[in-house]
Amino acid sequence: MAEVHSIAKARRSRCPICRKPTAPDFRPFCSARCKTLDLGRWLGGTYRVPTDEEPEEGDPAAVRRPADDEE
Ligand SMILES: [Zn+2]
Repeated sequence: MAEVHSIAKARRSRCPICRKPTAPDFRPFCSARCKTLDLGRWLGGTYRVPTDEEPEEGDPAAVRRPADDEE
């Protein structure tokens, strides 16, 4: 019997969220945090990445309404 010399090569897959090596407990993610992030992504329907950047959509308060036809 030839003893196979393969120690179940752990697939070097990476966390789809942060690209870190995945952890067995949180596959296919690296941590509970990323797992939660991914879950929220599905629940929210949109991939929301927490960022410090301000939204470029322009908030309503900043929108200038030209007062036209004011009689
Ligand atoms: Zn991760």
